[in-house]
Amino acid sequence: MAMVMYLSVALPTFPDQWIETYGGAVSDLPNCPSCSCVNTYPMGTLLVCPECGHEWMASEGDATGEEGDVIRDAHGQVLSDGDTVTIIKDMKVKGSSNTLKVGTKVRNIRLTPGPGGHDVEAKVDGFGPLYLKSSIMKKV
Ligand SMILES: [Zn+2]
Repeated sequence: MAMVMYLSVALPTFPDQWIETYGGAVSDLPNCPSCSCVNTYPMGTLLVCPECGHEWMASEGDATGEEGDVIRDAHGQVLSDGDTVTIIKDMKVKGSSNTLKVGTKVRNIRLTPGPGGHDVEAKVDGFGPLYLKSSIMKKV
């Protein structure tokens, strides 16, 4: 709402400045993932789409221009190759009678697209190489 008021007030008074400022802001923000609208605007830590009302978390890595490749842990921290993580959810491991337990430390992870939505690969003590999901781990 604040944005709309700002536009309606500022537009007739400083059209050139507004276009410059606002145009720059638009290109820095990602399009709406729901309807691809480009007129998204930030609201706190969220991005909001004025077209369809979709709200989502703004990614912190915008400046790199690689937001599509970013894999995040369960708390939204960006993961990188070589990171150490802990498992935050008990998980049955296919082909093993053991369960991957909460708190298990996994070192030297590798980000890679795996089968079934798995996006991290790592060697885990007692299991060997495993495909894991970034949503069940926390960066340490
Ligand atoms: Zn939208």
